[in-house]
Amino acid sequence: MKRRTLLAGLATLPIAGRAAVQTPPNGPWKLTPESDSLVPDAKLRDQIFKALDAAKNSGTDPAISHFPVRAATVFELDGAERTVLGGNTEYAIPEAIHGESSMLNHVTALYGPEVTRTKVRFVAFYTQKCGGSGSCGDCRDYQLAATDHENLLIACGQASDHTVRVTRFRDQLVFERDFPGIDAAKIPIEKSLLDQLVASARQAREGGVTLFTSSRHTAAAGVSFSGKIYRAAGADDAAFHYRYPIGGLLQLAATERDYFLRAIVVVGEKGQWPVVNYRDRQYGFEASTFNEKVGKPSAVLILSDGRGNFKMTTFAEALPRAFSTAQFMPQAVADFLASHAKND
Ligand SMILES: [Zn+2]
Repeated sequence: MKRRTLLAGLATLPIAGRAAVQTPPNGPWKLTPESDSLVPDAKLRDQIFKALDAAKNSGTDPAISHFPVRAATVFELDGAERTVLGGNTEYAIPEAIHGESSMLNHVTALYGPEVTRTKVRFVAFYTQKCGGSGSCGDCRDYQLAATDHENLLIACGQASDHTVRVTRFRDQLVFERDFPGIDAAKIPIEKSLLDQLVASARQAREGGVTLFTSSRHTAAAGVSFSGKIYRAAGADDAAFHYRYPIGGLLQLAATERDYFLRAIVVVGEKGQWPVVNYRDRQYGFEASTFNEKVGKPSAVLILSDGRGNFKMTTFAEALPRAFSTAQFMPQAVADFLASHAKND
């Protein structure tokens, strides 16, 4: 994520340089009325409030965004309450260890993966002001894999007034099986172009690097509004820095200053719906917000099962409560797109 983003969203627009968090006003944390029903258990509520008090002191190093993401959880293990912190760290270009992933990794490091999966009931974020965003795509992938994601709660404690907004992590997920099915004839690109994209993606899937991926291998082909087709296949490596197909083709398009994608088709094993990781949806979402910035329609995300069946959605629908630079830095994105317009 990026900075703010990251934050899991909690944050509203962040102000660069605001590293210090104000001392919260005196008085207890209080759930917002709409959060009450999600936390009927008084003990769990108390643990959330304790986690927020602890998260206030989480160490962070947001050297680039200057936006701290302070996370914590509290759970009971062997008759004692445990508190575990997480904080974001940013480095280099920009990359970051995100607050919520950091916290969950700390739980695993201290108590093992089973405890992360079975005991962690919530991720609490301490922030000045809660925004509406969820985790970045990558943190969604991690929480999906590492936690009891169907029951995990996300709590945002707002330092400015000590209110706490609780939501379900599940609401940040949309499984591929739930993407709407669609007849090929209703997909808003010409049939011949759709066929071309499917064939291109299928051929791309013959490549890539699959030393660890095997059946999860996917490839994608996208067409820009200028009519060019870009494609990429997933590629794994020993460092586990997987390169995703949508991200790959978007990078190729961006390299040509072709920033506005019209449609992207993803394919997996023949006869199966491909998995589209949340991290890859994040790349697609960010790119699609460029479209909106210049008044073009959102990019559509099309899944092919290789047997003539399709599902279609948008990146905004596939990544609920997503964030992008277009939200955080609207003028910078507008200036960037204007200065990189392709006239040749
Ligand atoms: Zn993240």
